[in-house]
Amino acid sequence: MYSIMAEYIWIDGQKPTAKLRSKTKVVRGPISRIEDLPDWGFDGSSTQQADGSKSDCQLKPVFFVKDPIRGGNHVLVLCEVLNADGTVHVSNTRAHLREVAKMYEHEEAWFGIEQEYTFFDGAKPLGWPDHGFPGPQGNYYCGVGADEVFGRAIVEEHMEACLEAGLDFCGINAEVMPGQWEFQIGPVGPLEVSDQIWMARWMLYRIAEDHDVSATLYPKPVKGDWNGAGAHTNFSTKSMREPGGMSVITAACEKLGRRHADHIAVYGAHNEERLTGQHETCSINEFRYGVSDRGASIRIPMATSNVGYGYLEDRRPAANCDPYQVTAALMKTVCGNW
Ligand code: ADP
Ligand code: MN
Ligand code: MN
Ligand code: MN
Repeated sequence: MYSIMAEYIWIDGQKPTAKLRSKTKVVRGPISRIEDLPDWGFDGSSTQQADGSKSDCQLKPVFFVKDPIRGGNHVLVLCEVLNADGTVHVSNTRAHLREVAKMYEHEEAWFGIEQEYTFFDGAKPLGWPDHGFPGPQGNYYCGVGADEVFGRAIVEEHMEACLEAGLDFCGINAEVMPGQWEFQIGPVGPLEVSDQIWMARWMLYRIAEDHDVSATLYPKPVKGDWNGAGAHTNFSTKSMREPGGMSVITAACEKLGRRHADHIAVYGAHNEERLTGQHETCSINEFRYGVSDRGASIRIPMATSNVGYGYLEDRRPAANCDPYQVTAALMKTVCGNW
C-alpha cells in the first residue's frame, strides 16, 4: 500500500459553455482498474450544479490515465457527475452518449477530433504586440521561427504528456492565426474520443498554467480578419470504410443537411461569430457538403473520394463544443433517424 495523488476531473454546470474543474484525492495504491478508484463528492453550489440547500453532488470515476504532470504512480481521473441519490445529473452529457453508443455499437463508429485553441498572455493572444496587430494571416499556419510561431514549448510539452498518458493523440499543427494551435485525437470510438478530448483539454490548461499562459476554446477569440477556432469532427462507420462506402457517406451528408439546426444547437456557443462563410467556414445559415471543400459544412476528404470509401469531416463544431453531444448527435442522425 502506498499513497497516490488522484486528480478527480469533472465538467461543471456553467452555461452556455461548461468548464473543467478538478481536485485531488489521496488514495491507496496500487490503482490498476477504474473500480480501484472510490466515488467522491463536491459542492455543487460552487459549480452551478446545485443550490446551497442541497449542494452535494457525486463524482463517479469513468476513465483514468497515468498523470504525466505529477509523474510516478499518480493518476488523472475523469468523472461523471451524479446527483446525491445516484441518478444522472442534468449537466452529465456523457450518460446520454453511453446510451447512444450502445444502441449503435454494431455500426463501429470511429471519430477523430481536431481540437483548435488559442493561447493568451493576459488580455492578448500569445505573441501579439502590446498595441495594434501582428502582420496579416498567411505565414503562420504550420510556420517555423520566433517571428511566426508562439507557444511551441507548451505545445510540445502537452503532446508529450498526452502520449505518456496513453491517449490516442495523433498530431499537432500551428494554426492560421498567430498564437492559435491544433491537436488531434483519434480515430477511436465515441466515448473514447470524447473522454480523451476532455482529458487533453485539462492537461493543456494545466501545463500552460505553469508557463503563465492561458488557453481558450472561444470560437472567435479575435474579431475581424482572423480565423476562428473549431473542432472539426471526422466520422466514419464500418460501412463507410469499406468498398462502396462513398454512397453511405453521401447518404449521411443528405441526412445531416435535414438536421442542420439540431446539430448547430449542440455544436458550441458563439459559433455564429465563427461560421461566417469566410475563413474556411460555411455560413451557419447554410448547409453544403463537397469533396475537398474547406468552405463546406461537411468536407469529404480527397483521399476518401479517390478510393471510394473512408470518412467525412464535419467542419461545423466550434472549439468549445462538448464532444459528448457532438458525437451523440452525429450517431443519432447518421446511424438512426433522429
Ligand atoms: P485536416 O486535413 O482536416 O487538417 P487532420 O489531419 O488534422 O485533418 O485530422 C484528421 C482526423 O481524421 C484525425 O483526427 C484522424 O484521427 C481522423 N480520421 C482518420 N481516419 C478516420 C476515419 N476512418 N474515421 C474517422 N476519423 C478518421
Ligand atoms: Mn487539422
Ligand atoms: Mn485546423
Ligand atoms: Mn480539418
